[in-house]
Amino acid sequence: MKNLFVDQTVDKIGETVELYGWVDSKRDHKKIVFIDLRDRTGTVQVVGGENFKEISTEDVIWVKGIVKKRPEKLINRKIKTGEIELETKEIKILSKAKPLPIPVNTEGYDIDEEIRLKYRYLDLRRPRMFRNLFLKSKTVTFIRNYLTKRDFLEIETPILTKTTPEGARDFLVPSRLQKGKFYALPQSPQQYKQLLMVAGIERYFQIARCFRDEDPRADRAYGEFTQLDLEMSFVDQNDILTLTEDLFTQLVKEVFPEKHFTQTPWPRLSHKFVKEKYGTDKPDLRKNKKDPDELAFSWTIDFPLFTEQSEEDYFYGSGKAKFAPSHHMFTAPNPDDIPLLNKDPLKVRGLQHDLVLNGYEVGGGSIRIHQSEVQNKVFELIGFTEEQKKQFNHMLEAFSYGVPPHGGIAPGIDRFLMAALGEPSVREVIAFPASSGGKISIMDAPSEAGEEQLRELGIKLR
Ligand code: ASP
Repeated sequence: MKNLFVDQTVDKIGETVELYGWVDSKRDHKKIVFIDLRDRTGTVQVVGGENFKEISTEDVIWVKGIVKKRPEKLINRKIKTGEIELETKEIKILSKAKPLPIPVNTEGYDIDEEIRLKYRYLDLRRPRMFRNLFLKSKTVTFIRNYLTKRDFLEIETPILTKTTPEGARDFLVPSRLQKGKFYALPQSPQQYKQLLMVAGIERYFQIARCFRDEDPRADRAYGEFTQLDLEMSFVDQNDILTLTEDLFTQLVKEVFPEKHFTQTPWPRLSHKFVKEKYGTDKPDLRKNKKDPDELAFSWTIDFPLFTEQSEEDYFYGSGKAKFAPSHHMFTAPNPDDIPLLNKDPLKVRGLQHDLVLNGYEVGGGSIRIHQSEVQNKVFELIGFTEEQKKQFNHMLEAFSYGVPPHGGIAPGIDRFLMAALGEPSVREVIAFPASSGGKISIMDAPSEAGEEQLRELGIKLR
């Protein structure tokens, strides 16, 4: 096994070490030849001669050599290993590389994205992409530790399930055993996490994959994304905001120590106020938008429970009813406004909270409805037919067996990283995102199904 990363060579002056990695570059001065050996931690200069003849860039090599201090005038202060170099004793080429279709030692922003995604396994070699994946892994580990220490249970919920509308189109998966029926991939684990509260779990989280068939945008990947899904019983809205704020504050301090907050505690602003003052419900409150390390978190609260329904309100009756949920249909009305549900639904405020960072909505959540009659009223107002209501009977039934008051939130992990790192799109923080048209170029997905597969599923293509 490889047991030394490139960046650790700085502590090995005078020692003989073995390194594995890729050839980042080669400089041939005839008698003396330099290569920069690269692994995920950086590059180190390796010195050889005749023995480097066969080597070309991106070859995978093993070298054994002595770590030497460079003479003062050859020190390169720009890289971590700039004070040392490796004097080669032995070298082996483990695998030859053809010339790459894209450069990997640049930032890569100027390369056509379709090509970057087609060769994503090469694109991910660039240090910026490694950094993004590294910080994502650190972020998730931090979240797991933080919540586990606070008595949260990490619980998985099904991927093959039934619709949980969050306002997008579902992905359907045909059932072989029950021909003519379809599973829906979850747009979020919303119903399951609420049912876990009925089950008495009290504090749940999941690093959850969510699936939504909607068009990609800079801040939205096509198809799937990852969110920290969280739910708690016996809490009020303030508890959820306080916990989330502390979680992200500690996370930033530990994983992104160079970042600083515009304002702490984070401002809690009403929907009405931000719409009037900034014209948006996700204001960018940074003092200096050019500072890449500034993080302006804020909360938007007191959303109206409903908006007027439009044709874009996929699922909720698509413009045929008067109202659509501003968040989703399980969000509780502000108790003071319950009488307005009958009189003037658009005036009812919901117990919804959105987490905003540098002008992006990086999370949303709410206190949930836990009374069947209120849930029924909301179903009616959003135009559910009896048939549509039936799809959620299991929720109403579950709630009839003793349901704790509960609420939660779901910050998007990709969105948070995109905003915190100042990346132009969520695809920069996802290893294998879909490209335009929902294609996964590397695998050439989606692909056609064979005759036999379709027959087994009872499906005939039109
Ligand atoms: N299910 C919501 C979402 O995915 C989050 C929540 O209400 O907790 O946006």
